[in-house]
Amino acid sequence: MHIGVLGGGQLGRMLALAGIRLGHHFRFLDPDPDAPARLVGELISGAFDDREVLGRFADGVDVITYEFENVPVESVEFLAKRCCVYPPPTALKVSQDRLIEKQFAQSLGVPTPRFAPVHTLEELQTAVSRIGYPAVLKTRRFGYDGRGQWVIRQPADVAGAWASAAQVPSILEEYVRFQREVSLIAVRSRQGEIRSYCVVENEHVGGILRQSLAPALRITPDLRSQAESAAQAILNQLSYVGVLAIEFFEVDGQLLFNEMAPRVHNSGHWTIEGATTSQFENHLRAILDWPLGDTSHRGHSAMVNLIGVTPDPRSVMEIPGAHLHLYGKSPRTGRKLGHVTICAENAVDLDNRLTQLKARLAFPDCHPCDAIG
Ligand code: AMP
Repeated sequence: MHIGVLGGGQLGRMLALAGIRLGHHFRFLDPDPDAPARLVGELISGAFDDREVLGRFADGVDVITYEFENVPVESVEFLAKRCCVYPPPTALKVSQDRLIEKQFAQSLGVPTPRFAPVHTLEELQTAVSRIGYPAVLKTRRFGYDGRGQWVIRQPADVAGAWASAAQVPSILEEYVRFQREVSLIAVRSRQGEIRSYCVVENEHVGGILRQSLAPALRITPDLRSQAESAAQAILNQLSYVGVLAIEFFEVDGQLLFNEMAPRVHNSGHWTIEGATTSQFENHLRAILDWPLGDTSHRGHSAMVNLIGVTPDPRSVMEIPGAHLHLYGKSPRTGRKLGHVTICAENAVDLDNRLTQLKARLAFPDCHPCDAIG
């Protein structure tokens, strides 16, 4: 099969690495001629909203998917008239706008942090007085990896935050004092079958994912069922096909929906070595109408992102159970350049190996308060 992927980043590259093994061919569309996926398929370099480029991209492919959610919905709708596109464009529409996304979760009975829409400074002031301090101002669109969000701790921060947001349509959220952040990766087939991976515990620094632990420790059946019910409701409501990631805050035994990504996700990279079928293969199976693969995990895994710098490969490979992934990107502060997944049979061995890895990476200690600036 010929698979077209909107976006040519590391997620596209890992999708292709899973799919080439199954005999598929990949074509990517990305504005960056140096996009990491260029080595694993044909790369068309051009704008996501250029109809001529979109036509060339769609020509001869059997199915189109995306690895990046900030593609214009109109472009995806244009492509959907020529070719099957999964996940459905509506999923993209919902996840591109933080306000629509939270209202959507609420409409399905999935709990979220308290939030309010903000279009003017006056609305922001009213929202802060209702939600209280601290609160987080987020732009509705184009926010990722902690970009487009500002913590408001006191009245003096309000006008500055609004100016930083460049007065674009935004959302104000309560600042959640979560015990931890967790995510669930689930996949839905074209026939409507749903499978989920284990709940994963995530640590962010400066809004960027640093580390995921799979499975998350101390996940009660109730927490797991909260995560799975949320995923089931969202996937079915959207008639979704493919992998979906949902990020939650855990607060006193309750999961609050933070956001979702209609694609393979960084907190699912551990599945390449740590699960029977990786998220990448399962995404392809779903969109190609193949049977879904087993999502069960093997032992315990930790995934650590390599941000801004990469280590000496040998120092990582010496650690038992360590798997190094490098994306072929040039180093830049804050850029995800690769990741390491460490696997072990039990949580104690994993912890020892992770300590060794962090010492070699000079990894900073994470604390939930560092999650955003
Ligand atoms: P987001 O892009 O919304 O996922 O935000 C990136 C990270 O910022 C999250 O993973 C959290 O660590 C943190 N964060 C986002 N929203 C909130 C919130 N309302 N309260 C506390 N921390 C937050």
